[in-house]
Amino acid sequence: MPLLEFDIIRKYFSDITTKDNSANIHVGIGDDAAIVSIPENKKLVVCTDTLNEGVHFPSHTSAYDIAYKALAVNLSDLAAMGAMPKWFTLNLSLPEVNKDWLADFSKGLQQLSRQYQLNLIGGDTTRGALSISITLAGHVDNSQALLRSGAKVGDKVYLSGCTGEAAYGLACLSASAVVSQTEQYFVSRLNQPTARVNLGLSLLGVANACIDISDGLVADVTHIAESSQCGIELDLNAIPLPAIADKEQALECALSGGDDYELAFTVALSMQAGLKQLIRQTDLPITCIGEVVATPGVQLLDNGRPVDLPRTGYEHFK
Ligand code: ADP
Ligand code: MG
Repeated sequence: MPLLEFDIIRKYFSDITTKDNSANIHVGIGDDAAIVSIPENKKLVVCTDTLNEGVHFPSHTSAYDIAYKALAVNLSDLAAMGAMPKWFTLNLSLPEVNKDWLADFSKGLQQLSRQYQLNLIGGDTTRGALSISITLAGHVDNSQALLRSGAKVGDKVYLSGCTGEAAYGLACLSASAVVSQTEQYFVSRLNQPTARVNLGLSLLGVANACIDISDGLVADVTHIAESSQCGIELDLNAIPLPAIADKEQALECALSGGDDYELAFTVALSMQAGLKQLIRQTDLPITCIGEVVATPGVQLLDNGRPVDLPRTGYEHFK
């Protein structure tokens, strides 16, 4: 018996919910739309991201990894706002109905949903080229939300973890069908990125501005500089590099590679004590990589001397 649209929804997507009452779901999957309520003193925060085969993931990526990544990239957007994620919808376009693929895809969604107590509350299922679009919603304290526009001259610029690992993972996959065990780490950073949700939440009241690094470190800190109407100086020698042998490639990946989903944020000097405490409480490396300045633009400095910037981030319509 072929599976029809409603069977697919019931079998693979109707049970991705937590028993957590704080999600306040009044109507979930099954009606024309979902109804939820948010805590009285909070604001709704919503983001959406699409993954297309061949653009956002290589064609042979497993269904599990595709689902994982589709949810993780959205979690990263809410993390960058300092928001608590709660509900998501899934628009799935499939070239064919493949039960093994759907079961694996559903498992990838389950994994992250359990980890972050997320609830799938609706979506749309259609036939077409493989494309996954997730809309994630949650809540945030409006007065504290982390925006790109809040950076102030004199703030220090920080980065969680290390950028460039996912880009190197993609390079490994492109170079050879078989990846070594060391390369596998980088491939997993590409396929199963970790959204820094807890870091985003703990930056509330500490950071002035924040962005998640999806297009590349330089490209994304440029967004902070532009939105905040200031400039950013990055210290070339402070930027953490992926652990790969070719140092030139490591630097290029770190500066321009996309898909890492680390957070870059700025913190005022007066908030350094709060930041230090936060750093003590997390296992994640947090590195000071630069400073917010008055002169517009992003400038890379090598021992105080300006150096040329490499190519900037990924741009779909270039
Ligand atoms: P409508 O025709 O009213 O748009 P649908 O037939 O598209 O309704 O969907 C029926 C129900 O199943 C709705 O509640 C919808 O949100 C949900 N749904 C459809 N596709 C998905 C999906 N891929 N994941 C989660 N829920 C889905
Ligand atoms: Mg519909």
